[in-house]
Amino acid sequence: MITFEDLKKVLSLNYTDADMKTVIKAFHFASEAHRGQKRRTGEDYIYHPLAAAYYLAKMKMDITSISAALLHDVPEDTDFTFEDIKHNFGKEIYYLVRGVTKLGHLKYRGMERYAENLRKMFLAMSKDLRIIIIRLADRRHNMETLQGVRPEKRLRIAKETLEIYAPIANRLGMFRMKTTLEDLAFPYVYPDEYKWVTDLIKDRLKNEFKYIEKIKKTTQKILVKNNIAYVQIQGRVKSLFSLYIKLLRKGKDLNKIYDLIALRIIVKEIADCYSVLGLLHKKWSPLKGRIKDYIAQPKPNGYQSLHTSVFTEFGKTAEFQIRTIQMDEEAEYGIAAHHRYKEIGVLGKRKKLPRWLEHLVEIQKTITDNAEFIKHIKNDLFINQIFVFTPKGDVIELPDNATPLDFAYYIHTDIGNKCVGAKINNQMAPLDAILKSGDVVEIVTDKNRTGPNPDWLEIVVTTNAKNKIKSNLKNREE
Ligand code: MN
Repeated sequence: MITFEDLKKVLSLNYTDADMKTVIKAFHFASEAHRGQKRRTGEDYIYHPLAAAYYLAKMKMDITSISAALLHDVPEDTDFTFEDIKHNFGKEIYYLVRGVTKLGHLKYRGMERYAENLRKMFLAMSKDLRIIIIRLADRRHNMETLQGVRPEKRLRIAKETLEIYAPIANRLGMFRMKTTLEDLAFPYVYPDEYKWVTDLIKDRLKNEFKYIEKIKKTTQKILVKNNIAYVQIQGRVKSLFSLYIKLLRKGKDLNKIYDLIALRIIVKEIADCYSVLGLLHKKWSPLKGRIKDYIAQPKPNGYQSLHTSVFTEFGKTAEFQIRTIQMDEEAEYGIAAHHRYKEIGVLGKRKKLPRWLEHLVEIQKTITDNAEFIKHIKNDLFINQIFVFTPKGDVIELPDNATPLDFAYYIHTDIGNKCVGAKINNQMAPLDAILKSGDVVEIVTDKNRTGPNPDWLEIVVTTNAKNKIKSNLKNREE
């Protein structure tokens, strides 16, 4: 169980005593408000908001979010009201607590019947992303204590976590949160498959651990000998759920999984990343084609690291990821890493929303039919994204199976309406070609073109393109 001392300890790394005044006050207020309440697992209620606040502190979120997390269940579950929160803690914390509470508690019965809740979520996210980040921390602790809940409700909550919250965390780049939520939900949602995976890797994992431990010791020695000040070397086991998904794709053959455990080396400076890589390659020879420099060329989602696989003296390979502290935090915490410390200001001085979220908010407003809305959400939020480039090198994010027409309409309505052809990687391509990550896409337009062809509605996959084509066709009819 996480205590208030634990929370203070994490916060003291980044905050002064003066900064922490609000957190201390929020903790006492919440403890008082929840006094006498117990959770189903038997512990005092306060340990729940405390855990949520602790996860946020670990992500280095701002003091306001952490205080709001401590108070997040007060108005709903105690005699105190939103007004009491506002009166005692001011507008901003009040606003976050209200946002989290209003996210809704519709029972999850599959995404089709979940439209109203999703609408609320996107609306809240568009106002302040911290609201959904607090909700994710709240959900994480609820999942960790799910054994206290009756079986039918347990399954419902686990499904909602796997089908709604984990994809949202993923979309926000919060990969640690995503995998944590998935692995917590996995045994409840797919008990048989969970047992299959855990049995499958049990023996292999034991051996791998011993092996990785040896490689780790050797690596440590090398770094010390060469005066590289590393922060951490850790063996990272692939998360169970993502392993399960990968196994399904690889014909359930564990021998085809090479990255069961990877060694992650965290250093202070970018230059150290390259020094470490050089030293590793001096000791062990690298596998051809497996060296990836995502520092010089970050992945389109911003991910940075050096990756390599090497042959070791044990006749086996070992995977390494090398990165700085900052790269590690960006990769693990995603958008939460941008809401840290005191960087974000008061209400109204909001950061610019990610484009995909702006887009979801637009859909939320324009599509009133719930079934239609869910169809689009499934397309835009819950399926994989690809990243393509404009000829100028700007990154454009589109859903899987997007075509040059989707690209054209994403850039500008006029580019879409006047589109007559497309080049993919400098080659002429049909308008219904399927784009892949990394493609450079160029749209050929003709200013004399009257507008889209009705057939295009069958080709495009994004809501954005569909809406724009429909509206142009309608205007032409009138
Ligand atoms: Mn809660």
